[in-house]
Amino acid sequence: MSRTPRRILVVGGLAAGPSAASKAARVDPEAEVVLFEQGPHISYGICEIPYHIAGDVPGQDLVAYTPAQLKQAKRVEARVLHLVEEIHPRERSIRVRDTTNDKTYTERYDKLIIATGSRPRSLGLAGEDASNVFHVKTLEGGFKIKAFVDTARPSRAVIVGAGYIGIEMADALRTRGIEVTMLDQFDLPMSGLEIRTREEVLRVLMANGVRFVGGSPPVRFVIEQGSVRRVETANGIYDTDLVILAVGVEPETRLAQRAGIRTGALGGIITNPQQQTSALDIYAAGDCCEVKNLVSHKSMYLPLATIASKQGWVAGENAAGGHTRFVGAIGAIAVRAFKTEVAQVGLGSAEAARARFDVAMETITGSSRASIMPGSKKLTVTLIADRRSGRLLGAGLFGEEGAVLRANTLAVSIQHGLTVHEMQQWDLAYSPPFTPLWDPILIAANALEKKMFKR
Ligand SMILES: Cc1cc2nc3c(=O)[nH]c(=O)nc-3n(C[C@H](O)[C@H](O)[C@H](O)COP(=O)(O)OP(=O)(O)OC[C@H]3O[C@@H](n4cnc5c(N)ncnc54)[C@H](O)[C@@H]3O)c2cc1C
Repeated sequence: MSRTPRRILVVGGLAAGPSAASKAARVDPEAEVVLFEQGPHISYGICEIPYHIAGDVPGQDLVAYTPAQLKQAKRVEARVLHLVEEIHPRERSIRVRDTTNDKTYTERYDKLIIATGSRPRSLGLAGEDASNVFHVKTLEGGFKIKAFVDTARPSRAVIVGAGYIGIEMADALRTRGIEVTMLDQFDLPMSGLEIRTREEVLRVLMANGVRFVGGSPPVRFVIEQGSVRRVETANGIYDTDLVILAVGVEPETRLAQRAGIRTGALGGIITNPQQQTSALDIYAAGDCCEVKNLVSHKSMYLPLATIASKQGWVAGENAAGGHTRFVGAIGAIAVRAFKTEVAQVGLGSAEAARARFDVAMETITGSSRASIMPGSKKLTVTLIADRRSGRLLGAGLFGEEGAVLRANTLAVSIQHGLTVHEMQQWDLAYSPPFTPLWDPILIAANALEKKMFKR
């Protein structure tokens, strides 16, 4: 006897949504899988936008799948310019607005996956909607910045927010020959990383012609003829032709909340490891969700594509009848600040102390290749461990070569609860053009062990 195909609907079409939809269609080849996206594009490389603005990546390469390609390759129907306005969990239906003709209609589901992502934080100042003020959050937004830089040829830019996106944008705009002033509420860029790393990022920014003004959030935009011409802070006034707002994102949970779906103290949707929400047959994935930190075992909000796409897979597989889990994340971030790679994996020292670990840390500077090899660069490694258990909790690395991939090696060990002592037994590959005989991460482990146990 044939059964009615399962109807799986997905809201959101960037990272988590297409991953969930594609997985669901693969796991249940009979299912009807429909994805709704309010914007004009799906499945694009938002992370590559700063490199597009810099001129390194052509615009047409940014879209991974058009709706037609998604249909053909993954058997998922994607409806762009379709805003999901309401979820009705009791009726198992959603109300959708087709924004091309402003008509609404209802769609029934057996399983629903919410992948509504995040929205940019606002400063709450008048003038944020001026014609030369941009967020870096969508493909259209990225194209607008590129077009503005290409046609209006701004000579000065103010970037508000010195997190990783602000830094990538500073790099991009300097590449385009624009004077850049960065304003941040904190005294150093990249809050959350170790002080030593933040000081290095500041040095790199300044060495590359970026004026960083710490402790100076904007208090007023001065607007002339529809454009922001000056940004005022408590410490100074900065003339500008272009303003980039990169002050972080918050989970986009309004749709879920209106449907009574549970959200947490950090504002994200709460899910179990199967990515099920508090509502029957409704799953959630990506930047709209909170995530369990595998080291501190606390909830965290970490809007990253790495997490979004994995959660999407899990939500998609389970919505299609599978049984899989997303275990959590350790927090692994990387950024290129001009020529310098910066990475942090696991807990920072302050976060580890807040989680009540007995924090021990050590920093060493080694070399990326055998030091006499041409091209070898300095590499600084900080390891953070729990003195009581010896467990590696976190690591921060920076240098012009080899920081990010080494951080990934450390990430695996943090995720699997290895101790600093165990790290010293690691059998890592050695060859002079790639690594020194004693890799900097092994030297750091050795130094930390000595410090912890005074050996
Ligand atoms: C410039 C930039 C660089 C980045 N670099 C990195 C990086 O290097 N590494 C990394 O891991 N992460 C990076 N990220 C973060 C990463 O892009 C996000 O974590 C990821 O996009 C999250 O995917 P998501 O699908 O959960 O949410 P989102 O990307 O926010 O997508 C959600 C989608 O849902 C749609 N939507 C929302 N509500 C509705 C509705 N009601 N109806 C229909 N559609 C709706 C939105 O229009 C949006 O397209 C970067 C982000 C930016 C902006």
